[in-house]
Amino acid sequence: SAAPLYSPARVRDLLDRHGLKPTKSLGQNFLIDGNILRAIAEAGGAAPGVPVLEIGPGLGVLTREIASRGAQVTTLEKDERLRPVLAETLDGLDVQVVWGDALDFEYATLPQGTRVIANLPYYITGLLLSRFMRAPGIVSATVLVQKEVGQRLAARPGEENYGFLSAIAALYGSVQHVRDVPKGAFLPAPDVTSAVIRLDFDRSRAAPEPEFLAFVESALHHRRKTLRNNLRLTGMDGDAIDAALSAVNLRPDVRAEDVSLGDLRDMAVKLGVIR
Ligand code: SAM
Repeated sequence: SAAPLYSPARVRDLLDRHGLKPTKSLGQNFLIDGNILRAIAEAGGAAPGVPVLEIGPGLGVLTREIASRGAQVTTLEKDERLRPVLAETLDGLDVQVVWGDALDFEYATLPQGTRVIANLPYYITGLLLSRFMRAPGIVSATVLVQKEVGQRLAARPGEENYGFLSAIAALYGSVQHVRDVPKGAFLPAPDVTSAVIRLDFDRSRAAPEPEFLAFVESALHHRRKTLRNNLRLTGMDGDAIDAALSAVNLRPDVRAEDVSLGDLRDMAVKLGVIR
């Protein structure tokens, strides 16, 4: 008979009864749209027995949606004020809540086949995505992010939003845009449109060498500058860069954002960054 947990009335009631105000600095924008919740859980692969890691359960609405599909949920929450709320909303469900900062969590300990499903706190999206990528147990991450971040993740060399985030996503696997999410799907509404993105990590590939990741990061540091300029900023010798560029048939003034990962790899070998 009662309205669903994610309805604006129930969300407001939960916040009121527990004397809580959403905290902007923690990226607290709570989902109030059932269709979006179901779409995220579905796209994320929540199914019986699947180990799922969620970041930031908030009031527990997405957590419930994932756990009620039979997934084995571990969820990390920093805001201790939410303890009594989650005790109420996750009552009767087999969910492990880990209290603390998601940036301090040991992602390497996660079991093989873990799927991340989360409405991420936007202020640490990039840091969290790079943790997910480097954790060998995680096979996919289905995340709600700012639309612009989603576009950056999915961009290819030469496209408008291409940068380091696009490059590392491509190095670890593939990116799929699931759907856009309007501001009105959240309470309070964020300033920007969001998107659900699914990243699949190809764990059969060798993980990129840290030296290569650092090289790609420097190469794309100022993505509208020339690749030569970006590499010069790291202290590399200009003649060596010119030789490497010409070895892969790139113009000396090629812009960093137009260079493929294959060409960057060949240049990194030529420059002695990797073998
Ligand atoms: N999952 C809920 C939903 O969809 O309605 C809430 C999502 S809200 C965008 C982000 C959540 O992440 C909040 O609950 C916030 O307290 C939590 N959070 C913020 N920073 C965090 C951190 N460093 N570690 C763990 N959780 C964090």
